Amino acid sequence: MVTVSKIECSPQTPEQPRLEKDLSPSSAATSEGSASLDGEPQLNITGETNEIDWAKENADGFAFRDYDNQENERYAVVANAYRLMHENQTHDFVKGMHAKWRKFDKGEFTIMEIITMLDDLVDDSDPDVAMPNSIHDYMTAERLREAYPDDDWLHLVGLLHDVGKVLALWGEPQWATVGDTFVTGCKPSEKCVHFDSFAGNPDVKHEVYGTEYGIYEPNCGLDKLWLSFGHDEYMYWILKENGATIPQEGLDIIRYHSFYPWHTGNAYTHLTNEHDETVTRKWVDLFNKFDLYSKADEYPDIEKCRPYYEGLLKKYGIDGKLRW
Ligand code: FE
Ligand code: FE
Repeated sequence: MVTVSKIECSPQTPEQPRLEKDLSPSSAATSEGSASLDGEPQLNITGETNEIDWAKENADGFAFRDYDNQENERYAVVANAYRLMHENQTHDFVKGMHAKWRKFDKGEFTIMEIITMLDDLVDDSDPDVAMPNSIHDYMTAERLREAYPDDDWLHLVGLLHDVGKVLALWGEPQWATVGDTFVTGCKPSEKCVHFDSFAGNPDVKHEVYGTEYGIYEPNCGLDKLWLSFGHDEYMYWILKENGATIPQEGLDIIRYHSFYPWHTGNAYTHLTNEHDETVTRKWVDLFNKFDLYSKADEYPDIEKCRPYYEGLLKKYGIDGKLRW
């Protein structure tokens, strides 16, 4: 019988993988220069609404994020990606992925080199588009740049938010790279798309992981949660490890942008804290519509806008070779 400590979410828990450094979701960045502003960033324009019009159509003529429409030719691929994710992303698997990918020993590359690699990646979990991810990165960034021309850290967040999908090009299956995330170590929320496929995950029958709070204390906060592993979590730690000076709110957008059951479904609020609900949610919601709606835009002229983003990488301390 497995016994799991109730305080696993604290940084010094004996349940953590035994590595040289703390690999819990809430551990501090190893670099000194990371992410700081005096107080929460303020946007330079106002009047935008964060509400998403879910009936708006994507480039293929279907509603965005419609996972149940079997007429969509991407239905089978997407449903299969979620089934594999929900069956295989157990709590132990997630801890193993932190241990594997937070060694940052996979090579040294610039962000632009990685984005170029993403020309070869199409996201199997995305019902809306089958475009190479490199183009999606620029489209999201350019839309944010248009709406908030003076908030350049947001443009950079747009460019970077999916760069962690390089995991799929380095041997990880898509079910461990892309898709909406969920909390492991406790019962999955019914707000997760393709919820039925959790029936194949052994954790749902676990005496602790299968319960509502699982290993967590009430309202322990997002950064204490072990989310299913993928490009969000990986890119967050890449930026932390390499000393990015993007505001923490921007790093949190990257880390939680796929946590749809929370930010759109309002699930897991028994685990989030006040900062998550009043600050992080606001920024993730704002970002979200740019991530989605840019998918119906014209392709941007990447050669033309690349120098602008190279300038932002320099400004925020991540212009050279990073450790991946
Ligand atoms: Fe993403
Ligand atoms: Fe995206």
